[in-house]
Amino acid sequence: DRVIFWFRQDLRIADNPALSAAAGTEKEVICLYILDDETPGEWAMGGAGCWFLHHALDSLDKDLKGLGSKLVLRAGNATEVLPDFADEISATAVFWNRLYEPYAIKRDKALKACLRERDIEVESSNASLLFEPWTVETKSGGPYRVFSPFWRACMRDCPSPDEPIKAPKSLKTPKQHPRTEKLDDWGLLPTKPDWAKGFAEIWTPGEQGAKDRLAWFLDEAAADYKDKRDRPGVRATSGLSPHLHFGDIGPRQIYHAARAQAEKQDGTAKSIEKFIAELGWREFSHHLLYHFPSLPTDNYQEKFDDFPWRDNDDDLKRWQEGQTGYPMVDAGMRELWQTGWMHNRVRMIVASFLVKHLMIHWRHGETWFWDTLVDADLANNSASWQWVAGSGADAAPYFRIFNPITQGEKFDPDGDYVRRYVPELANLPNKYLFSPWTAPDDVLKEAGVTLGQDYPEPIVDHSAARDRALGGYDDIKKAS
Ligand code: FAD
Repeated sequence: DRVIFWFRQDLRIADNPALSAAAGTEKEVICLYILDDETPGEWAMGGAGCWFLHHALDSLDKDLKGLGSKLVLRAGNATEVLPDFADEISATAVFWNRLYEPYAIKRDKALKACLRERDIEVESSNASLLFEPWTVETKSGGPYRVFSPFWRACMRDCPSPDEPIKAPKSLKTPKQHPRTEKLDDWGLLPTKPDWAKGFAEIWTPGEQGAKDRLAWFLDEAAADYKDKRDRPGVRATSGLSPHLHFGDIGPRQIYHAARAQAEKQDGTAKSIEKFIAELGWREFSHHLLYHFPSLPTDNYQEKFDDFPWRDNDDDLKRWQEGQTGYPMVDAGMRELWQTGWMHNRVRMIVASFLVKHLMIHWRHGETWFWDTLVDADLANNSASWQWVAGSGADAAPYFRIFNPITQGEKFDPDGDYVRRYVPELANLPNKYLFSPWTAPDDVLKEAGVTLGQDYPEPIVDHSAARDRALGGYDDIKKAS
């Protein structure tokens, strides 16, 4: 008698409730991963995500071998692959952890019905969220649209997140394992050019890598998180986002470990509360996506449908390549390209710059991030883009326009971040680092910078761009 455990965005063995449930049947458990590019449609995994996935699967397979099992890989539309596979191995049940992307919900519902029709049991669990979206409701019974009351309700009214469950010690496996495709044949890694060269220096996909990162964060950085989390030049945030996305660690493990650290280490309580509230933003984004499934494609506030967006491929390309002439923006876009990640403060700055200074639709930014972030996540990415654009549920007001110069001066005061990613400006004094076009000729000369040659002139003038964006906003305000 055999059951299937279907790995999805829960690529771990510990605190994996559906895997533990499968192990608890005492039947042979076959661990399956399906590479399904079809179901997500335009949200098929981007390049950077594929890189992370490849290594996370490789690591998971090794971990499963430690339990006497291994991973079976199949590619194709899961709606067909899973039932076929269940027939192939004569499975009596399938176990999985829930996903919240609209296309995944639709597919999983269809799969449940199809499998049950064939007398195959289906059991799903929650491995990815502290609070499932339908369990948090306003007094009048609807979903929350504003973060603070949402998070207050989670913390006050919802049952405390369960303690993480331990990894099963072993998995019963058949002598003859089903056929598996080869991970290397899936082409998830870049070949030429290898744009992911810098990734491995930063990321260790897989359960152990995630655990180590959490331990590093709690021991070395958590105490200062509140004060330093907005400083992109300092390693002050956890870097757990890709691990959370692929589920090689779960939010309950992080939540309880963080709470334990606050008890153990005096003076860290406030910082840890702030960190947990950031996990709360992740919960909120999933809450929004679940209740408003068109969040990735449609303005949550419909008045933005009439916003006079500009279509300008050249400007978009310069933004993507980190060649806008605004060093803080360019540093962020280059960090993204080189490492597959960008600091949250800088994500806000570059997103605001695209949407407001360049007046390019947030969907172009969302799509670029989708392809280039190792943590690309439908809920977090779409909620955050709509937040910055001003079109979202609990959004920053459109008229609040980030100034890329003063943001740099404030959050990268020593210029370490800009110098790391925009090395051609490394010798400019801090005073001019965030607005090199204001530097006198002799200063530029001494720093070895010729604007327009070594580093671009600014793509737009800040004040003029600001006025143009506010003008666009006035138009839709008048119309609504
Ligand atoms: P930490 O500060 O250590 O926070 C811990 C965890 O909390 C993160 O790993 C993440 O899971 C969650 N978190 C933190 N901030 C946010 C936030 N603002 N919204 C939702 N969850 C949050 N995050 C993604 O995971 N995937 C995305 O695709 C994504 N796209 C974004 C796009 C834009 C335009 C912006 C402004 C933000 C985006 N974020 C996204 C949110 C945030 O920038 C990252 O989660 C964060 O920078 C990850 O770094 P960290 O793990 O060191 O965060």
